[in-house]
Amino acid sequence: MENCVFCKIIAGEIPSSKVYEDEDMLVFRDINPQAKVHCLCVPKSHFATLAEMDEAQAELVKKCMIKIPEIASSLGLDGGYRLIVNQGKDAGQTVHHLHIHILGGQDMGEKML
Ligand code: 5GP
Ligand code: ZN
Repeated sequence: MENCVFCKIIAGEIPSSKVYEDEDMLVFRDINPQAKVHCLCVPKSHFATLAEMDEAQAELVKKCMIKIPEIASSLGLDGGYRLIVNQGKDAGQTVHHLHIHILGGQDMGEKML
């Protein structure tokens, strides 16, 4: 998708600190980390929110969810981690390509869930 920063990262047009990649997803470190470990798991198909997701894209999200525990383990998140998927304006979604935040490496507290 034109002008989508995550599509550009997937295409290698914008550099990123890659953590994991396969044919379905790319995982890289967030440029503005909100926890000691903060990565983004991005399916390799452009859609903004779950409301726009088709069946093939849902399969990619499923594959992300299956792979995330393995990625979290490789990141040393043995004490647990938090996943966040912002949807739209009120959630503060700024990049309109669905992504799963992986946050951890510290006690995440209880303020937001
Ligand atoms: P959202 O608020 O849309 O859920 O999260 C978007 C995330 O993408 C933010 O945490 C932001 O720091 C991250 N981000 C935006 N642009 C870039 C970029 O060019 N590279 C990386 N690594 N992260 C980005
Ligand atoms: Zn995109």
